[in-house]
Amino acid sequence: MLTPIDLRSDTVTRPTAAMRAAMSSAEVGDDQYGEDPSTNRLQARVAEMLGKEAAVWLPSGTMANQVALRTLTRPGDEVVASRESHAAWHEVGGAAANAGVQIHEIGRGGIFTGEELRAATKPRNFAIFPMTTLVQVENTHNRAGGVVVPQPEVLRICAVARELGLATFLDGARLWNASAASGLPLDTLAQPFDLVAVAFSKGLGAPGGSMLAGSKELIATADRHRRRLGGAMRQNGIFSAAALHALDNHMAHLPEDHAHARVFAERLLAGAPVQLDLATVQTNIVVFHLPASLALDASALSALARERGVLVNAFGPRTVRAVTHLDVSLQQCERAADVLIALLAM
Ligand SMILES: *Cc1c(COP(=O)(O)O)cnc(C)c1O
Repeated sequence: MLTPIDLRSDTVTRPTAAMRAAMSSAEVGDDQYGEDPSTNRLQARVAEMLGKEAAVWLPSGTMANQVALRTLTRPGDEVVASRESHAAWHEVGGAAANAGVQIHEIGRGGIFTGEELRAATKPRNFAIFPMTTLVQVENTHNRAGGVVVPQPEVLRICAVARELGLATFLDGARLWNASAASGLPLDTLAQPFDLVAVAFSKGLGAPGGSMLAGSKELIATADRHRRRLGGAMRQNGIFSAAALHALDNHMAHLPEDHAHARVFAERLLAGAPVQLDLATVQTNIVVFHLPASLALDASALSALARERGVLVNAFGPRTVRAVTHLDVSLQQCERAADVLIALLAM
């Protein structure tokens, strides 16, 4: 059986031999005592890359988001986020279950404006409204197709937030991709936010881990919430060594992933009657829609593609997502597009 071309997610990458070597020789200690040298090194490095005072390790991006909410809100609060944000769609209702907050989704295409935030923020002096206390930006935006949120709008959003007394959180699981695509440094993208989350397990190709970065004070609070949720680990250096290796060796590969996504998208669009806005193909994610005129819906297409060795995600009844990453070549992306084109011509 041929190895499938797996475009379901950039999380499916396996550690390379060099990454495994870095993991096996990692210096480790008990991270709950702050004695894991590799994790301490990674935390200091990521804090510096993001231009923040401190950073703390978390086992997953989902937990990073939960901890951010608990750090910056109180139960009963309202959080403003982009429509179809990861926090609202992909975290099993964790915002409500773990932080007791409700999410108000605004904007379109993964983006909202500072003025839309102002309109969505509920006045504090009205007794029946929830308190709007946090705005969250997802950059790049997954369900919108990996789009980069324009930094001028980010600055307007965060200026409105400060004016209205809201805290600011950047879900930057794929901030590395946003930086590679926009050419803006990571610390520029992170600067306007109180807390920033990044992930090592997506495009960087490490087996796990995320980090929250912010002021020393906020990170100390985040660390308490992390421990309370059971997210503090022990000889975590095995994971941190993989993340350090990824920062050294895999960051430079991201523009290639983006180019591969572009080739896949253009080839698919040229060969099949799918709805695909090429303007959304800015990074490593391609989200496209199957018009009602096509016989196949998203789950039928993904099932048939699987039989032909191509894995994609049915993201909605007629919406499909493909993601490029370290473990797929240009040729494999071209072949995957051709398989989908052939299926859609049936
Ligand atoms: C993947 C992702 C997360 C969650 O990360 P996990 O490590 O899978 O829990 C959070 N936010 C965004 C935008 C993501 O893409």
